[in-house]
Amino acid sequence: MRQKMSCTFCMIANGEIEIKKLYEDKDMIVINDINPQAPIHILVIPKKHIENLLLVEPADVELLGRMLIAASNVAKELSIDKTGYRIVINTNRDAGQTVGHLHVHMLGGRPMKWPPG
Ligand code: AMP
Ligand code: ZN
Repeated sequence: MRQKMSCTFCMIANGEIEIKKLYEDKDMIVINDINPQAPIHILVIPKKHIENLLLVEPADVELLGRMLIAASNVAKELSIDKTGYRIVINTNRDAGQTVGHLHVHMLGGRPMKWPPG
């Protein structure tokens, strides 16, 4: 399934919900998180509906790599590449996944703790 009608991130990726995009190509969009957990908190969202990391298929390998590069490119554009940033992919309940459409978080602009809470 490429799109899911009831999925907010499908609607955003389709352009059905108007939102500022920091980057877009044929396979993904990059947007600001609506509830930022750091001064910079962006989401890289594939246009294809993939529920989570567990449902990534071999055919999606290049897409995932390109999503990580896109996140890093935005970090460079926003000048947090030298200070650093964190990439997160929450998967299922214990990780706190709340949206059932795969997305990569990129957070930065402040020091972060490890391990995460
Ligand atoms: P996760 O908890 O990993 O599933 O992350 C979902 C993220 O999507 C959260 O950080 C939310 O703040 C964010 N989010 C949910 N709805 C929207 C939206 N309409 N626009 C931008 N970010 C959103
Ligand atoms: Zn979706």
